[in-house]
Amino acid sequence: MAKTTIEVQQGDITKVRVDAVVNAANNSLLGGGGVDGAIHRAGGPAILEECRQIRARQGGCPTGEAVITTGGKLPAKYVIHTVGPVWDGGQKGEPDLLASCYRNSLKLAEENGVKSIAFPNISTGVYGYPKDQAAKVAVEATRAYLREHKTNMEQVIFICFDAENFRLYQQLLNS
Ligand code: ADP
Repeated sequence: MAKTTIEVQQGDITKVRVDAVVNAANNSLLGGGGVDGAIHRAGGPAILEECRQIRARQGGCPTGEAVITTGGKLPAKYVIHTVGPVWDGGQKGEPDLLASCYRNSLKLAEENGVKSIAFPNISTGVYGYPKDQAAKVAVEATRAYLREHKTNMEQVIFICFDAENFRLYQQLLNS
């Protein structure tokens, strides 16, 4: 099986042409600010409608887990909504929960035939996770998942909105 490529790009995740983009959602699945707001604005109301249906069925999305909806008007076919942990000092299970976001998103992607996926820097905005630590968790969890699973995934892209994250991911991916 061909090796999955892992890349970093700086930019806006709503513009990326991949099978699935990941959203840093919140437990309610009803939308918020940051990347969540940008995805719902660019993707249109179909995404929120599906989120509401999922919420009616299962009552939102627990931290560390993921759900999938249409990509609406985005170039991506799907949006995978995952809920990162709120940073609370680092001793409350934040690293495991953040790693679960990457693992569960990759698993759900795989189950839906996704061959290319783009991740934002989950939890590093309003949720306050230190960027350097979050980047390490993201890259390690993704590499471990790809190593430990038979996967058809061809491309994983980390989309960094800000220059600091971009630099951190470049350093990690070149090591
Ligand atoms: P969280 O609540 O998980 O911290 P935020 O949306 O506040 O989520 O931030 C997560 C990351 O997404 C931050 O690094 C932020 O800079 C980034 N971000 C914000 N808008 C976009 C966008 N349009 N595309 C990609 N990343 C974005």
